[in-house]
Amino acid sequence: MRIAIASGKGGTGKTTVASNMALALANAGSCVTLADCDVEEPNLYLFLPGGEMGVEEVSVSVPAIDKPRCTYCGKCADFCKFNAISVFLGNALIFPGLCHSCGGCSLICPESAIKEVPRRVGIVKRSKPRDGVELITGVLDGGENSSVPVINAVKRGLPDSGIVIIDCAPGTSCNMVSAVRGCDYCMLVTEPTPFGLHDLSLARDVLVKMGIPCGVVINKSVGEDGIIEGYCSAQGLQVIGKIPYDEAIARAYSMGKAALYEDSNLARVFSCAYEKALKGAEKP
Ligand code: SF4
Ligand code: SF4
Repeated sequence: MRIAIASGKGGTGKTTVASNMALALANAGSCVTLADCDVEEPNLYLFLPGGEMGVEEVSVSVPAIDKPRCTYCGKCADFCKFNAISVFLGNALIFPGLCHSCGGCSLICPESAIKEVPRRVGIVKRSKPRDGVELITGVLDGGENSSVPVINAVKRGLPDSGIVIIDCAPGTSCNMVSAVRGCDYCMLVTEPTPFGLHDLSLARDVLVKMGIPCGVVINKSVGEDGIIEGYCSAQGLQVIGKIPYDEAIARAYSMGKAALYEDSNLARVFSCAYEKALKGAEKP
């Protein structure tokens, strides 16, 4: 069972849900692989520190021009839709940060003057912070602008079976789509506010297009969640859990502590949400 934890906007509580659900399941005797695919700002390790097992570098292929072979015809620059190559006045420049590693320029070059070379963009760290939980964390290098290769590297390291929980990037960009792709179910974490509703609806639309079943977790609930519940009811979305607004939870979060140790009811909230996700993933 591979579950993505996503949200249309940042700060809704994805990390709270991902970390606490993993802990609730592990405390009940399950083995969980937790993947941090919010690679621009990974923070699951703050709640699950220690047990480091190793680090791998993530690289992408970028072009390098063999200047003696180059005739400066400009075909590579014309081909590149990302403006990652510029040919002018007998010179050819590559801007690796703009390259999307499509490989097209090396194919199009009539002089075979372009080869591909590796360029590091991030790392993937593995750890076993406690019994029953393995954590795989993607970290995009500072200054890099494409998270997808690092997200894909994290996902390549995931087991094919067992319980896998993926903490996705916020929003509905290609980072979220890459993290969610291939999952059996997606939990959308939201807040009972107009902003929360707006971004929830965007995320839900993406998941419908991707054909991934989803349900909603309302975070910071004060018992007046009609704005979200009305939308869910109209769209046929199940609310699979509610996390109460509670200063003790916020204080625990700010100190890197798991919320379920602050509120004895929360373990049940997360296990029930997981059970509902299992059922939701089974529906045709
Ligand atoms: S296509 Fe090849 S030969 Fe032409 S400018 Fe680019 S690298 Fe040089
Ligand atoms: S590999 Fe693709 S994206 Fe990168 S420079 Fe070549 S054509 Fe542009």
